[in-house]
Amino acid sequence: MVNKPALSRRKSDGKAAPMVDGTLVSNELLLSLPPEDWESIFPELSSVQLRTHEVLHESGEPIRFAYFLNSGLASVLSVLSDGKSVEVGLTGKEGFVGLPLVVGLSTSPTRTVIQIEGAGFRVSAAGLMKILRRSETLTQRLQRYVQVLSMQASQVAACNRIHEVDERLARWLLMCQDRINSDTVVTIESRENLKDAACECYEAMQRQSRNWLSESNNSVR
Ligand SMILES: [Zn+2]
Repeated sequence: MVNKPALSRRKSDGKAAPMVDGTLVSNELLLSLPPEDWESIFPELSSVQLRTHEVLHESGEPIRFAYFLNSGLASVLSVLSDGKSVEVGLTGKEGFVGLPLVVGLSTSPTRTVIQIEGAGFRVSAAGLMKILRRSETLTQRLQRYVQVLSMQASQVAACNRIHEVDERLARWLLMCQDRINSDTVVTIESRENLKDAACECYEAMQRQSRNWLSESNNSVR
């Protein structure tokens, strides 16, 4: 008889904390799933370490694996023909890498690379299709994350064109800190000072995210 891996661990408050492959889940998309979905989704995921500079998928090439980041930070890069690249998005434990797969597409115009090492849960392209068929909630969460990343890319495009480098740096540091829950990117002594130094883009993205969160909490689906 094969022992099934545990899907949760009991916390001190008595609630079940979800686990994948023996690792506690911090990824917010997975944490948002109802416990009845855990059994059909978690066994398809495997725990992986993610090293700095590791390319999760290359621009224009087939996406073999999708990733739910549990820690660390990934950069979404737009790659130009001369090899130069520009960051157009950031993904951490709030997000997912491999979005074209969610809508049945197999390549991405962007490259996604690990910027700060961490860990995550990996699923093959075929495995992702399987779990999306099993969970309407996961499908909906990932479709909403498409909107979040697209909003981020358009705001960052405007920011890179119009705002000063020191304001953009402050905005970028705040975005990194939100995604890795840590001030170790550089030592961030005062988040409030950083907010004062940042351009309006950080607050604009936060405001839109809050609005969408309240809309999704109020929606029937
Ligand atoms: Zn800006």
